[in-house]
Amino acid sequence: MIPFNVPPYCGKEDEYVLQAIHSHKICGDGAFTKKCHEWLVQRTGAARALLTTSGSHALDMAALLCALEPGDEVIMPSYTFSSTANAFVLAGAVPVFVDIRPDTMNIDENRIEEAITPKTKVICVMHYAGVACEMDAILPMARRHGLKVVEDAAQGVMASYKGKALGAIGDYGCYSFHESKNYSMGEGGAILLRTDDPRAEVIREKGTNRARFLRGQVDKYTWEDLGSSYLPSELNAAYLYAQLEMAEQINAARLHCWDLYRQMLTPLAEAGRIELPVIPDGCVHNAHMFYIKARDLDERTELIAWLKAHGVGSVFHYVPLHSAAAGLRFGRFHGEDKYTTRESQRLLRLPMYYGLTDAEVETAANAVAAFYARARS
Ligand SMILES: *Cc1c(COP(=O)(O)O)cnc(C)c1O
Repeated sequence: MIPFNVPPYCGKEDEYVLQAIHSHKICGDGAFTKKCHEWLVQRTGAARALLTTSGSHALDMAALLCALEPGDEVIMPSYTFSSTANAFVLAGAVPVFVDIRPDTMNIDENRIEEAITPKTKVICVMHYAGVACEMDAILPMARRHGLKVVEDAAQGVMASYKGKALGAIGDYGCYSFHESKNYSMGEGGAILLRTDDPRAEVIREKGTNRARFLRGQVDKYTWEDLGSSYLPSELNAAYLYAQLEMAEQINAARLHCWDLYRQMLTPLAEAGRIELPVIPDGCVHNAHMFYIKARDLDERTELIAWLKAHGVGSVFHYVPLHSAAAGLRFGRFHGEDKYTTRESQRLLRLPMYYGLTDAEVETAANAVAAFYARARS
């Protein structure tokens, strides 16, 4: 069986985790965390980057930084992970879902403005599959209406939009280093700040000024603001750093597999049997995901079963949030759901991970082709 995902592993993780153990500094913000912060700042151009215990917690921090009040509204796509919405609901806000574009599965930048009300405070975009949302349309719109922009760039590490790293374009950007992502620390993430908001390190350290205390800037530390414990252990940071050091190689290997899938499946797309992902001009993606679209839900269900029977792990993705129990309870959809539900039901993700071989990509792509080559009843 070719699995859908295998967590990334480069080889130096063992050594670095042992180093962290023997440094007798295994709580957060030690040497490996600092190295990861430096890498992130250097790589993205963000003013500041802070590792977090998860991508979800990075989003929670972003929501706290937005200083929302009960009933404030946050515009976001419905085709996203629960964490995108949860973060803002926990902060007292109401998610207002708008439709996606069928080509990239990202929020439709042309549907945002009509959803803005006097209560809107934030636009939260999610860069699906590491392919950027149309930020050149979204940022000026946010500025015109005095809104903050949060990027859920959980899938976007090493991807860019018109030369800018995803996550470092809006006010706050959130990365995930979950084991299903391109770079991993088991469970973990990071928040990127476009300007160095001093509240961020306070929120991350249980609402205290402990970070300033550790730098010798104050002589005791106290409770200053809302917060929680959002900093990961050094053990996790050590594992992550081994991968960040190898980020170029990991990215190149994933892109190679992605290109091979695309090349092998183009004839099926040209024959009108499936659709392939679209990468708009100005977007440099990171091969986080290779997906195809079947005709409809029934065909996708059959295809998943067929691939499984042929030794290929494939999975569908999000159930739109607005139709889920919590989405109905906490949020609302603005405008017409023209694409969100329909396109989400057609989408199927093929195996993609660091270490996937050409032969495995060929096996998976050939199994898809064989499905469509069957005599159709
Ligand atoms: C993975 C992911 C998250 C959550 O990240 P965790 O590290 O698992 O908490 C949030 N949003 C999106 C779009 C994701 O893909």
